[in-house]
Amino acid sequence: MSPTSDKINEACGVFGISIAKGDSRDAAASVYNALFALQHRGQESAGIAIRMPQGLRLHKGPGLVPDVISARDLERLKGASAAIGHVRYASDSADAAPMNTQPILVRHASGTMALCYNGKLVNSKALRLETETRGGIFQTSNDAELISYIIVREHLRTNTTEDAILNAMHYMIGAYSLVVLDDHKLIAARDPNGFRPLCVGQVGDSYMFASESCAFEALGGHLIREVEPGEIVVAENGELKSYLCGIHARSSLCMFEFIYFARPDSILDGVAVDLARRESGRCLARRSTTDADIVIGVPDSGMASAMGFAAESGIPYAVGLMKNRYIGRTFIQPTKDERERSVRIKLNAIKAVVADRRVILVDDSIVRGTTSERLVKLLREAGAREVHMKISSPPFLNPCYFGTAIPDREELAAYNRTESDICAMIGADSLQYLPCEDFHVMMKDLKHGFCDACFTGNYAVPVPAT
Ligand code: SF4
Repeated sequence: MSPTSDKINEACGVFGISIAKGDSRDAAASVYNALFALQHRGQESAGIAIRMPQGLRLHKGPGLVPDVISARDLERLKGASAAIGHVRYASDSADAAPMNTQPILVRHASGTMALCYNGKLVNSKALRLETETRGGIFQTSNDAELISYIIVREHLRTNTTEDAILNAMHYMIGAYSLVVLDDHKLIAARDPNGFRPLCVGQVGDSYMFASESCAFEALGGHLIREVEPGEIVVAENGELKSYLCGIHARSSLCMFEFIYFARPDSILDGVAVDLARRESGRCLARRSTTDADIVIGVPDSGMASAMGFAAESGIPYAVGLMKNRYIGRTFIQPTKDERERSVRIKLNAIKAVVADRRVILVDDSIVRGTTSERLVKLLREAGAREVHMKISSPPFLNPCYFGTAIPDREELAAYNRTESDICAMIGADSLQYLPCEDFHVMMKDLKHGFCDACFTGNYAVPVPAT
């Protein structure tokens, strides 16, 4: 249990690059650097697939990007004309098995294809059953193999991988941002709802696709535009081609990308993540009646909201919590006492800042409430006179079916509790959430609509009964 173990998990980051003729950059090294920039989207496994003159090759495994891809590996993978890569969080425990690492590489009647994916299909159970009853055999339990299977099946009726993907999109319901590599092309596809982000970038004359634009900047490139919901973009021979699947759906970019998942230096569907987070703090401040001496943010995703709150309220911003950035995932705390102490090792209050002050503490969300409770305690033990908790998202009440691992409803702090119950549970002097309606104001510049179903229960596609 880390101080951030109470956070919900995203389910992956994807990247792909097609090297233009005459561009000397290395595809595998580019993927490696881009995956570093996307590491926040998944830390359980990483992988890369490259296109060499002899065909597609795969390298993947469990762990962080540098654990999986060494300098020696990069040397071996040198000379590719295109490559794709993936970092993964498993959205459920069955998905966490090593066999589920991506990319997936499949050989089929018309060639070879590697695929990586971010999201979750709502109808995967039915699709899997249908495939199995026709004799299909799966080696993994995740949707990436299922999607590959459907694309390959459709490829038997079409001439190109992009046509096969266009056909496959008519069967798949839910969240999927795909990056696909075949023997000639690099292809990106985004589900008709656009649940997960996917964008197009350029470095030199080479085109790239990524979950977030921060990956392009890590390579010295830039964002061109988003892959639109329901769109397929193909990079081949230094050109981009676009196709629309023609399925009309309510556009629904995951709200949690702005609250917590995405890096602040990314731009998603036209909105800068950092500015959205600052605006959430401003919105909270406009509704706040709390008198306090300082505003502090929980590192890292609560910081921008805290700055926005401070700017709007006129209450000074301060750094009151220090995060230890050098603890890896292998840090183990076997006993309850050790787990309690680990909060201080990973995140500590700065006494000189908070002692004898009335503190406004801004965080991005409360999931189970355990982290908030520990942070309030930490600040009080450091001498804070009052601790007022401000949350830059509404209360979590509903499960997510689109690739975000949210605990069972009964485990959620907001389930069957009022705000004052939650406030008492975490031991704060007051608690304020950002109401859903403020998101609509905050997100007015978003190119498409957004999903807020885990707060409202208003799902953009039919979901399984719970
Ligand atoms: S339900 Fe919540 S976490 Fe899932 S896609 Fe919608 S906003 Fe994101």
